[in-house]
Amino acid sequence: MTGIGDGGKRIVLADPRGFCAGVDRAILTVQTILKAADRGAAAGDGGLPPVYVRRQIVHNKHVVEDLAKQGAVFVEELSEVPDEAVAAGVPVVFSAHGVSPTVKGEAAARGMHVVDATCPLVSKVHREVLRFVKEGYEIIYIGHRGHDEAVGVVGEAPDHVHLIEHASDVDGLDFSEDTKLVLLTQTTLSVDETADTIAALKDRFPWIAMPPNSDICYATSNRQAAVKLVAEQSDCVVIVGSANSSNSVRLVEVAQEGLGSRGVAHRVDDAGDLDDSWFDGVQAVGISSGASVPDELVGGVIDALQAMGYTGMHAVETIKENMHFVLPAELRSRR
Ligand code: SF4
Repeated sequence: MTGIGDGGKRIVLADPRGFCAGVDRAILTVQTILKAADRGAAAGDGGLPPVYVRRQIVHNKHVVEDLAKQGAVFVEELSEVPDEAVAAGVPVVFSAHGVSPTVKGEAAARGMHVVDATCPLVSKVHREVLRFVKEGYEIIYIGHRGHDEAVGVVGEAPDHVHLIEHASDVDGLDFSEDTKLVLLTQTTLSVDETADTIAALKDRFPWIAMPPNSDICYATSNRQAAVKLVAEQSDCVVIVGSANSSNSVRLVEVAQEGLGSRGVAHRVDDAGDLDDSWFDGVQAVGISSGASVPDELVGGVIDALQAMGYTGMHAVETIKENMHFVLPAELRSRR
């Protein structure tokens, strides 16, 4: 822990926070295509956009707005990509959260030029589904119903992947002892809440197999561990992240658990969402951010708090991250 002006009204900053390697890669994927188009080296000339992106490339509205300003066109479904753009070879990027085989099939059927920005750690879970189904397993998948990542993973084998959200859902599952069972999870879950759900699953199905490595990714675990310590030293915690960002919402939950009755954890998209009343009587404000959040947004929150008198600041550093993912193969030569 490094101390800068400890004591008095202060900020306790989580480290690590913000961008993970998967988000960094996904954003860089779109930026690389945009830059190439700018140089006239890619399809997109002739009035067509330089790139389409299916769904939010990462779950952060500022990132999406920024890329949209640079020319990226975001669509919810591939059907929104016009035939003339497909014919011209305009790239269509799949977001960091991954897609189901149905979406890949639709893109292939239309002959789309796909650039897949699925985080490699999400792709790993897709591969695990295929491997376990091939080996005759039924898969219990802990995830959030409707989240893009969960939809993509379940879509690999809808008849064999059984999605549950909480420990309370375990009672609704029914498998005989001769059913081979294995557990997989979404990458951005709460480590602690998932442990409770796993305990309930092991209790009900003692033969259930665990994956070789946890599917909850390094970035999710590291950010939760850091915010837990931050919350212990704070009277209030502010998490920067969008409402549809699973890992950001989990950080709010973890922070709230760490604060207990001493204070409240809030989520903001940016400094504009801060409410002065949250800080009445608060001496120490903890800050962290989700894996899809640019650090400038955290900087804006720090500036706003400093203007409110939180002039002391120290960082709680739990681990140094050095994870890096290379760009999708078709883009590597363009950088
Ligand atoms: S949070 Fe984890 S799984 Fe999701 S994009 Fe980042 S590194 Fe990949």
